[in-house]
Amino acid sequence: MNKIPSPRRDLDILDGYHSPQLDVSVRLNTNESPFPLPVTFTEELEFEIKNLELNRYPNRSASELCLAIAERELLKENEVFVANGSNEVIQSICLAFGGPERSALIFEPTYAMHSQIAKITGTRVVDGFRDAEFKVDTNVALELIEKEKPEIVFLCSPNNPTGNSESPELINSILSELNSTGGLLVLDEAYKEFSETSFEPTVREESNLAFVRTFSKVWSLAGIRLGYLLAPEWCVNMVKTVSLPYHLDSVKQRVGILALKHKEAMKRTVDVTKEERKKVFDALISLPIKVWPSEANFLLFKPESIDAYKLWQELIEEGILIRDCSSWEGLEGCLRVTIGSENENDIFLDAVRKILK
Ligand SMILES: *Cc1c(COP(=O)(O)O)cnc(C)c1O
Repeated sequence: MNKIPSPRRDLDILDGYHSPQLDVSVRLNTNESPFPLPVTFTEELEFEIKNLELNRYPNRSASELCLAIAERELLKENEVFVANGSNEVIQSICLAFGGPERSALIFEPTYAMHSQIAKITGTRVVDGFRDAEFKVDTNVALELIEKEKPEIVFLCSPNNPTGNSESPELINSILSELNSTGGLLVLDEAYKEFSETSFEPTVREESNLAFVRTFSKVWSLAGIRLGYLLAPEWCVNMVKTVSLPYHLDSVKQRVGILALKHKEAMKRTVDVTKEERKKVFDALISLPIKVWPSEANFLLFKPESIDAYKLWQELIEEGILIRDCSSWEGLEGCLRVTIGSENENDIFLDAVRKILK
C-alpha cells in the first residue's frame, strides 16, 4: 500500500466553504447581483480583450487599475492592492500579519471566510460574540483585545449574514486600542454601497485601519473574481510581499478599469436593490416571520410557524435556493435571502406565502 502524505494537523478542523450550487431557476443564496452587465460594457470589453497581448505577463502591480480605484477613493495608488476576489485580499492580509503564534479576533456570527482563511494561514482564531441584536459590544471587544492582543481584528460592515452596520463608536474605540497594541483592524465592506451610513473613515498612514472591498456584489462581477484593499502604504507593501508574482491576470485588470467607468449603471442597480429590499422586508414581516433590518443586499429572517430547514427545503422544491444558516451558532432557525430582481423576489415571496399557508 502506498503511504500518502499527511496534511497539516491543524487543517483537520476545517471543512471548506459550503454553499451548495444547485441547478435551480431562482438563486438567492450567495448575494450576487441579479443584474447583468450593461450591453455597452460587454461590447467595450470585447474590444479591449482583442487588443490584449496575452503572450505577455500582465502588469505586475496592476497599476492602471490601482490608480483608477485610488482616484475614486481620493487615495494614492500605493494605498491600493487588488487581488482575485476580496477573499484573496483577506488571505494576503493573514499571510502578512497572521500565521503561527499569531491571532485574529472575529465576532460571530459573521462572514465564515474570515475565520476559515485565518485558520488556513495557521492564524489562531479568537472568537468574540455579538449581542442579541447582533451588535458588537464595545467593552467586550476592548476586553478581548487587551487580553489576547490579536494581530488582526476583523469587522464586517454591513455584517454578513445579519445585515447591520458597525457603529462609528465601536470602530473608533477598537482602532484607538489597536493603534497602541499594534494590531490591524480590517473592515470588510463588501456591501458598503447598499448601506445608508454616513460614517466614512478613511485610510491614514498613522492609523492601523484597512478596508476590504469587492467587485463581486454591487459591481455585478462575481464571475470575474476581483477585490481590493485600501490601506496605509506600509500595509499594502507587506501584503504585496506575500502575493504571487503576476497574480492578477490582464483580462481581469481591464474588466476592473472598465467597471469603474460604468459607475452610474452600478448606482442604479443599487437603488433598485434597496427599493426591493424594502418590499421583501415588508412582505416577510407581515407573515409569522421575524426579519432583521438590513443595510445590505440580503435579509436575515426566522420563520416562526415552520421549521427553518423545512422551509429552505420546500423552497428548493419550488426552484428557489436561499441560504440555510439555521445550524450556525447564534443563528439557530435563521435563513438568509439575497435581494434578487423584482421578478425573482416576487416568485420567492409567493412561494413563502404558499408554503406557510
Ligand atoms: C461576498 C462577500 C465577499 C466577497 O468575496 P469575493 O472573494 O470578493 O467574491 C467578501 N466579504 C463578505 C463579507 C462577503 O459577504
